[in-house]
Amino acid sequence: MVQSPTKPLPKKLHIKTFGCQMNAYDSERMAEALQPAGFELTDDQSDADLVILNTCHIREKAAEKVYSELGRVRLTKEARKARGRDTMVAVAGCVAQAEGEEIIARAPVVDIVVGPQSLHRLADLVAERASTGKRLVETEFPAQDKFAALPLRATGKRQVSAFVTVQEGCDKFCTFCVVPYTRGAEYSRGPAEIVAEVERLAARGVREITLLGQNVNAYHGDGPDGGAWTLAGLLRRLAEIPAIERLRFTTSHPRDMDEDLIALFGDEKKLMPYLHLPFQAGSDRILAAMNRKHTAEEYEALIERVRAARPDLALSTDIIVGFPGETDADFEETLALARRVRFAQAFSFKYSARPGTPAASLEAQVPEAVKKERLAMVQALLEESRHAFDRDTVGRRLAVLFEGKGRKPGQIAGRSPYLQAVHVEGPELLIGHIAEVDIQAAGPNSLTGVMKSGFEWREPVQAAG
Ligand code: SAM
Ligand code: SF4
Repeated sequence: MVQSPTKPLPKKLHIKTFGCQMNAYDSERMAEALQPAGFELTDDQSDADLVILNTCHIREKAAEKVYSELGRVRLTKEARKARGRDTMVAVAGCVAQAEGEEIIARAPVVDIVVGPQSLHRLADLVAERASTGKRLVETEFPAQDKFAALPLRATGKRQVSAFVTVQEGCDKFCTFCVVPYTRGAEYSRGPAEIVAEVERLAARGVREITLLGQNVNAYHGDGPDGGAWTLAGLLRRLAEIPAIERLRFTTSHPRDMDEDLIALFGDEKKLMPYLHLPFQAGSDRILAAMNRKHTAEEYEALIERVRAARPDLALSTDIIVGFPGETDADFEETLALARRVRFAQAFSFKYSARPGTPAASLEAQVPEAVKKERLAMVQALLEESRHAFDRDTVGRRLAVLFEGKGRKPGQIAGRSPYLQAVHVEGPELLIGHIAEVDIQAAGPNSLTGVMKSGFEWREPVQAAG
């Protein structure tokens, strides 16, 4: 039998990431998974033999962005073809999961469609596409654990702060949300595997870890001791790793904030005083229609408990405006709640009907113009609240973890415990370290300050072993 000649495998990889931090984490893992097959990352799409779009399906606008990007990728692919170079195109992430075959039909430029639970199979899919010429769709939720199948995180660029996904999927079925359909049922990684990953990151110079999950505080990993670990237990264990100086986690659901986790904000110095806790809407009627399973009063009572454990807590949230049936009076309750809580940070969105979710078929859809107006109102309030929080830190001395160079020559930039960006004049040697900064001014998006007076840089003493 005559074998058809197999194409040589492509070697340059470009990944464009849309959406949340969990996608940013998945993109890193995809690059690592493709490394053994000889792929190197490039920032230049036109140089890439393999282009991956890691997509987001949470709102219609996010999903549509993928198709406009595919239009651009098609032009690059044609230009490269004219130069005798092939380009393979893969669509990964939640649009891939939700639309599968539809992407293949709608966008002939796409070679591979791979869902978020199958990304460890990418190298095989690329090889299969190259050898068979068949366009491939892999959107099953395979029983095999993708985390166990992915290579260990031992290489990559130097980072000070890293994300680690510890929980995926969701069983809560809020009526507006596609996550339970695109990411599947709730799943927690085992603590031993997470600890090993964080230890490897620490050995590479990472000083801050943000644990990620669609409902990260629902975490319940099977421990080596046979018991189920909670998020608080996992954070406590990670805090024992000496080189890890800061811990954060996101996104939390109000229903899953247990007492142990609340207490940890008071007990564990490495846990930063910052909590992202979406409330979505201030009206109990809308919260019930959203299937959030908490009232506005319960949300505020919860915040009071976390603030009692950590009085300087910075709070962040997500808000949806224009959920079906939301009246002006309901929306006023959202504004009132936001005013009372005084968020340090917030993300607000116009409700976007997602196919297949219960809220999409409700009759009382809110007109686009009303949603737009409400969004502008809530964003003005949230911006004011963010600036007020930033202004309150002026005059304070904050511990800043430096992550890179600043905007201006001679400046370095980092994050305060409250996740504010801080710019200061200082030596680049401080990148990767924490130093105290006297905050002098709050700009539109960042703080500026000076190193604590008398500050003198000394090389840290290396721990033995
Ligand atoms: N699990 C988190 C929680 O329960 O709060 C939220 C995770 S979701 C991936 C991120 C945010 O996207 C949500 O908090 C919500 O504000 C927003 N979102 C989700 N579905 C949406 C929709 N259909 N329209 C507008 N915003 C939406
Ligand atoms: Fe979506 Fe969060 Fe609700 Fe789960 S809890 S369905 S991820 S909004």
